[in-house]
Amino acid sequence: MSFGHFKIPVNKPFLPNQEVFQNYLHSAWERNWLTNHGPLVKELEKKISDFVQIPYVLFVNNGTFAIQLAIKALGIQGEIITTPFSYVATTNSILWQGCTPIFADIHPKTLGIDPSKLEEKITSNTKAILATHVFGIPNDVEILQKIAENYTIPVIYDGAHSFGCEFKGKSLLSYGDISTVSFHSTKLFHTVEGGAVFTSNEFLYQKMKQLMNFGHTDLNEFESPGVNGKNSEFHAAMGLANFDSISQIIEKRKQLFNYYKQILPEMNLEFPEIPNHTQYNFPYFPIILNNETALLYLKEKLETNGIESRRYFYPSLSKLNYLENKQQDTPISDSISERILCLPLYYDLTFAEIDSICELIEFYL
Ligand SMILES: *Cc1c(COP(=O)(O)O)cnc(C)c1O
Repeated sequence: MSFGHFKIPVNKPFLPNQEVFQNYLHSAWERNWLTNHGPLVKELEKKISDFVQIPYVLFVNNGTFAIQLAIKALGIQGEIITTPFSYVATTNSILWQGCTPIFADIHPKTLGIDPSKLEEKITSNTKAILATHVFGIPNDVEILQKIAENYTIPVIYDGAHSFGCEFKGKSLLSYGDISTVSFHSTKLFHTVEGGAVFTSNEFLYQKMKQLMNFGHTDLNEFESPGVNGKNSEFHAAMGLANFDSISQIIEKRKQLFNYYKQILPEMNLEFPEIPNHTQYNFPYFPIILNNETALLYLKEKLETNGIESRRYFYPSLSKLNYLENKQQDTPISDSISERILCLPLYYDLTFAEIDSICELIEFYL
């Protein structure tokens, strides 16, 4: 397997103006304040909160911890119904918190949890729902909300891909009891490493704030067995330096995304569907092939020509070999996982590069 020397990688982190970044670092130097709820972290949290119009935001060390923190703060122990089609961090967070993932199959077009499959899985042991807005595509948030209310269980959204995405005029991150994002450098908006939790519930906010800071309620007072989920002034500086480019990044991705769609052949290819009322953020460009053989063949031919592509997301998480109770009834996720491939999409990608990628696809499909 070749790595790191592709002519066209599948992803390239966005880099801000270096001087802007240096100015933020310079201010941290002046203060000699590097971490622990510093002014840059506070400023970033405020900017993010205003941007998504959600009152409570905590900037944490990564997107995986954000999911763990949400599970912990809601006091969930036991079974969590979740999606089999996501990055492995979603399932691993459930397992790491000592909970049991129960997989509900996905909708074949929007790739989120299929509400009818979800309802079939609910029992008296169900403690929560953890769904991923995979590729930033909204889950059926209103129906999921109704189901959750009927059974009085909380909903957590892994919104790792959802930053900048809106549904029905609100940030997609405002749905559910707690939503999380990842600000990893491969994500559309990043802080090198980082993530955040979002809630409109003040109690949950205070709880999470405590749990990510050793359980402190005062300097020498501790109320819960908290751990360290803080992020630093350096990471906040990267976020602040990137912040003003968010709309520009999304706009450029939109153009590249639409160009792919315009020139890719329609035969033997499918694309996920974006539901109505979505103001989309274009975080990835996935294509769905007819079968795994076609995928492996195309992937290899692209690689031979210096183009990286990635199997997001494979395997279907219900097939992970370390699961104690393997679950066999997620045929749609299993099938999509075998056939889905993400093509290069990043700010610096050019239309000419998309031309050359699509020519190869047309040839080898
Ligand atoms: C990237 C990602 C995560 C994890 O985020 P990190 O910041 O890398 O820990 C979780 N879930 C999904 C769906 C992701 O793509």
